[in-house]
Amino acid sequence: MSMMIIYPGFKTQAWIDALHGIDPSLKIEVWPEIEDNSAVEFALCWNQPPDLLRQFPNLKCISSLGAGVNHLLDDPTRPTSVPLVRLVDRDLQQGMAEYVLTGVLEHFRQFRYYRAQQSNKEWRPRPNRHISEVGIGIMGMGQIGEFVGRKLQGIGFRVHGWRRTPQPVEGMEVLSGQSALPDFLRRADILVCLLPLTPETENILNARTFAALQPGAYLINVARGRHLVEEDLLAALDSGRLSGALLDVFREEPLPEQHPFWSHAKIMLTPHVASVTNPRSAAQQVIENYRRAQQGAPLLNRVDASSGY
Ligand code: NDP
Repeated sequence: MSMMIIYPGFKTQAWIDALHGIDPSLKIEVWPEIEDNSAVEFALCWNQPPDLLRQFPNLKCISSLGAGVNHLLDDPTRPTSVPLVRLVDRDLQQGMAEYVLTGVLEHFRQFRYYRAQQSNKEWRPRPNRHISEVGIGIMGMGQIGEFVGRKLQGIGFRVHGWRRTPQPVEGMEVLSGQSALPDFLRRADILVCLLPLTPETENILNARTFAALQPGAYLINVARGRHLVEEDLLAALDSGRLSGALLDVFREEPLPEQHPFWSHAKIMLTPHVASVTNPRSAAQQVIENYRRAQQGAPLLNRVDASSGY
């Protein structure tokens, strides 16, 4: 039995070292250098080429190399009888919290405004709202959203969340379902998207959503590019409906050179780096799932393909 890593365009040595650090006897192969397709029983994947996974007839488990699984669920050639798992990892949560807090505070304390003033040697202080008056809405109160929400709450923001199913989160107001969406949006001065990409959430960051937020709200999209209707964002920024946006993910990555987001004064963008999986912290759960797959035991962090995440 071997574990296969499919990670086109990325270096895999850190993953191999982390996995071997836990189990030196593990046979790890990196696609496309696979000795015998029929011996591969566990696939660890990111952006796998189409039609590849079904070439491994004895797969017992397919694991995403990250928290998201849309790259796997969107692959029509994925063998649907093979269980799918994803990563739930403290370092991923921590990385995302660092990124979102940086973005929120940079906006809240008006650093972009002062940076522009500095270039013109201007001295014009602006008033600041009290932190407890600023509402932050987290779309997607999952493993990462809840962690990020608690950090923002911890420094004093008024945080509320939105999820699909009505499950309470201790100490935080969380609304659920489509019918609660307008109420959720109405309270947000800053909207953070941490939803998985599913048919229900695709294009959810659109003109109607922006119109329901507080006037001049700020958008942070760290989920997936296909959550955002790009023309609607540009229109909302130009009209002043939104005051700015921080974007980490895009419909097309890398973002094409001619794309208007690059030079938009109200957009800050980063190249899909909000939170990157750290093999050293995530390897243990991969090994655990590899063992469980071998034994036919229940897998950790199993994805429900019917809900899309
Ligand atoms: P989870 O599956 O733990 O959480 C997803 C949350 O979204 C849940 O609260 C879920 O609701 C909610 N949700 C799903 N569908 C809907 C819907 N239709 N309406 C309302 N709420 C919905 O995911 P994670 O927190 O682990 O990750 C979230 C996403 O973050 C990933 O899918 C990925 O796209 C993105 N990500 C981006 C990274 C980056 O670097 N930019 C890094 C890591 C992740 P419920 O709780 O009711 O199930």
